[in-house]
Amino acid sequence: MRYEIIQVAYLIATALFIFALHWMNHPATARKGVYAGVAAMTLAVLGTLLYPGLVNWKWMAVAAAIGVAVGVPLARIPLTAVPQRTALSHAFGGLAAGLVGTAEYYLWIGGEHEMLTPFKVFAIVAEIILGFLTFTGSLMAAGKLQEIKWIPQRPVTYPLQNVTNFVLLGVAVLCGIGIILRPIDLSYLFPVIIVLALAFGVLLIIPIGGADMPTVIALLNSYAGLSAVAMGFVLDNKLLITAGALDGSSGLILSIIMCKAMNRSFANVLFGAFGQVQKKAEGGEQKPVKQETPEGAAQVMEQASLVVIVPGYGMAVAQAQHRVRELYDLLTKRGVDVRFAIHPVAGRMPGHMNVLLAETEIPYDKLVEMDEINPEMPQADVVLIIGANDVVNPAARHDKSSPIYGMPIIDADKAKMCFAIKRSMNPGFAGIDNELYTADHTYMLFGDAKAVVGELVKNLSVGVAAVH
Ligand code: NAP
Repeated sequence: MRYEIIQVAYLIATALFIFALHWMNHPATARKGVYAGVAAMTLAVLGTLLYPGLVNWKWMAVAAAIGVAVGVPLARIPLTAVPQRTALSHAFGGLAAGLVGTAEYYLWIGGEHEMLTPFKVFAIVAEIILGFLTFTGSLMAAGKLQEIKWIPQRPVTYPLQNVTNFVLLGVAVLCGIGIILRPIDLSYLFPVIIVLALAFGVLLIIPIGGADMPTVIALLNSYAGLSAVAMGFVLDNKLLITAGALDGSSGLILSIIMCKAMNRSFANVLFGAFGQVQKKAEGGEQKPVKQETPEGAAQVMEQASLVVIVPGYGMAVAQAQHRVRELYDLLTKRGVDVRFAIHPVAGRMPGHMNVLLAETEIPYDKLVEMDEINPEMPQADVVLIIGANDVVNPAARHDKSSPIYGMPIIDADKAKMCFAIKRSMNPGFAGIDNELYTADHTYMLFGDAKAVVGELVKNLSVGVAAVH
């Protein structure tokens, strides 16, 4: 009976995991998706605890206490640090899979020899290679994104780097094949695989940097999922296999979407050492930058028929979304059609802008995807860029030497007039200048996004009060 209850719990959990992913596809149902995911995980844990003789309560309590101690502060980090938080959770997932695989292997060679079938040992080898490389790779990625001093942020390259990495992985795989063939006699190779996988994780990440980091994190997500699948086979746990497969495939799909949005290939992300410091174009006189006051910009905007707002990473940093909502309300009240142009990789994580704007309850139909809004950009009287840079950089269209060449962008340069809010002329994530900011029809509104949008709101409220 107990076994049946466990299986039913697992079945419901699997269905809930699938619904969770489905609901998370849209902002309107995303919250429901999160609750479904939490419910699924709770059921999965409770179901597992029901296994007779499986649970050592003392150790479970210690593990749960450690989990809570790590998890609670992780849940409270600001939204801007979500990519590194995500990387850390993949690291923990990878470590867990690696440790479980190691424990099972030594348990089996210590006595349960009947478990050492080639398939099971293959699953263990896959689990520990993927688990341990995800562990160190994700830690490195989190460290890079957190800008930890002793971890170089920019890609580190050296001669024969890719060859070295492949050889290292190849040796680990060969050791794995040895263990699959002779699991007891060659057990001394097991720690060698672990060390190689740990080293491979570090070496895989050091040539990657800059704007590629979030893509790599999505890829590490899929490795963590695959190691969970392998763990499911090792432990004979169907829920782990399905949940791991969902995790693995969603990570892979996400990284493919991100690669497409940046016009990069997987190979280029993994081996291209993108994000190197760019050589400055020699000579080339800097065009002068024109500035506008919030008052002047507000006057222009209230006369416009269509205003397109392009939010970017700076809006997230400044947490300006609520002021942006006020701006939206005021302009809409004046009869201006206001739309938001959402670039798929604006900010630092997929859906970053959607999440922030959904928080302010701006109607979803006003958030327009890049492909849909671009044909309308020439009709926009004003485009207001709030802390975005790379995603509106026209160099992506024409400058073959630019690291973002080929990346689809929001055609902000095609609008009749452009106001750009940022604090300085500093570049964005890709580390390159943006010619849009020195274009003839662009006016800079220098300052923190929250403060500047606040000023725009103040000026427009005076106008609205005067109208009524
Ligand atoms: P961005 O190119 O990084 O530019 C952000 C701009 O915001 C900066 O130029 C910065 O200029 C400004 N800024 C920062 N803090 C600000 C503040 N408090 N107030 C006002 N402005 C502020 O951002 P993006 O245009 O959103 O592009 C995202 C980049 O990340 C792309 O290169 C993309 O490929 C990469 N990326 C994103 C994802 C993702 O999933 N979203 C994934 C992979 C890569 P100042 O310092 O002068 O203020």
